[in-house]
Amino acid sequence: MSSRRVAVVGAGMAAARLAQQLHAHGGPTETVVYGAEPQAPYNRALLADVIAGRHRAGSLALPTGDAEVRTGTEVVAVDIRGRTLTLADGSREAYDDVVFATGAEPVLPPLDGLAGAAGGLADASGCLTGATGGLRTGLHVLRSLDDCARLARDADTASRAVVIGGGVLGVGVARALAARGLSVEIVHQGPHLVERHLDRRAGAALRTALGRLGVGVHPGERAPAPDSGPGVTLTGGRRLDADLVVLTCGVRPRTGLARAAGLPVRRGVVVDDTLACAPHTYAVGDCAEHGTTVHGLATTAWEQADVLAARLSGAGPGARYTGSRPMSRLTAGPVEYAAFGACGDADEEGADVLRIGDATRGAYKKLVLRGDRIVGAILVGDLATAGSLTRAFLTGRPVGRDPLSLLTVPPRVPSARVVEESRT
Ligand SMILES: Cc1cc2nc3c(=O)[nH]c(=O)nc-3n(C[C@H](O)[C@H](O)[C@H](O)COP(=O)(O)OP(=O)(O)OC[C@H]3O[C@@H](n4cnc5c(N)ncnc54)[C@H](O)[C@@H]3O)c2cc1C
Repeated sequence: MSSRRVAVVGAGMAAARLAQQLHAHGGPTETVVYGAEPQAPYNRALLADVIAGRHRAGSLALPTGDAEVRTGTEVVAVDIRGRTLTLADGSREAYDDVVFATGAEPVLPPLDGLAGAAGGLADASGCLTGATGGLRTGLHVLRSLDDCARLARDADTASRAVVIGGGVLGVGVARALAARGLSVEIVHQGPHLVERHLDRRAGAALRTALGRLGVGVHPGERAPAPDSGPGVTLTGGRRLDADLVVLTCGVRPRTGLARAAGLPVRRGVVVDDTLACAPHTYAVGDCAEHGTTVHGLATTAWEQADVLAARLSGAGPGARYTGSRPMSRLTAGPVEYAAFGACGDADEEGADVLRIGDATRGAYKKLVLRGDRIVGAILVGDLATAGSLTRAFLTGRPVGRDPLSLLTVPPRVPSARVVEESRT
């Protein structure tokens, strides 16, 4: 059988997994991965740990099987009908199947004065365009190894940092900078930290834990613009001095190339259960929108890549991606949490809710049940049961007679205090 040429646009976490799995299946495919970044695929989810000193930048490389990986090679156009793509140097390459794995890019707040001398940083939707090194001195984002090197370099001579945005990434960055000895303040316009994944009490527990590291949190506050000098001034007029400011205001799918190629794009490139968006054309990872959901998580990117690899290699022609159960985790440091599924304050309506608070350990745990199934759960400060909870959540199996055992490991937490058990 003659081999099929699979062109993967983007050399990030989804592309690496796809290439590795295509190789593992050993099907009749020849994989070429085109990546705009100078580095081969690496584990982006560990960038904050590089800042914290827990990992070296060189240790993040991901396996890519037998794929040809072309680094520093941006794809500037894709001709879906002619099945060719154009590279930044003007050359054209043919393919049999193309996979968009272009990821996401940081959203910048709609503010003047963020750009350095080069100017022109954000596109009409407020997304960062081009190299993030174009940000004004002292301003940072964290999406790539280059961003990471720039931030680590500045952090070496800084003593105070402000992180704008208290979501998953903002908390991870604040924790990492605190580990380097900086005093850190998080400015967050939401009501509490990580409100997309955590309820109010979990947000408060996280804030307490960060406070122990010397990280201050300013919820319900905005920084209209980083000051022209170091620091930011909040809407109420309060000034926070800083040597560096990190913008962690979210990401958006990188869809410009797919849109220009005439593919269906809403927030992300719209794909069906086969991950296809047009004949011989697919999208996976942060750039893909499946059933109106854009996940923005490595775990989801890998699930999608696994399905697509099974299909393209011929190992699983009937494989389908039917969605992912949302999970968010911050681990491997003094401030840890894990959140599964629907676990916000609004998700408690009509559900059975178990809560455990352990002030001495700074822990907060919650299980949201409908019938005997877990629909959501939170662990803050003590992740001892995260493994069994993850398995119970992902398999959807009944929790049995003792759901509390999914929150506690009896010999290790004898003093855990049940603060509330309620049916709302
Ligand atoms: C600091 C940080 C921490 C994170 N922590 C977690 C975590 O704990 N858990 C979790 O699940 N997720 C986490 N994430 C999210 C996770 O990294 C992403 O979900 C994952 O990287 C998505 O993979 P992807 O391949 O879709 O996109 P990316 O990994 O972003 O890769 C896309 C690649 O495509 C390249 N590209 C784009 N356009 C082109 C083009 N035209 N030509 C060539 N190349 C192109 C980009 O340069 C980039 O290298 C974190 C992200 C960051 C930044």
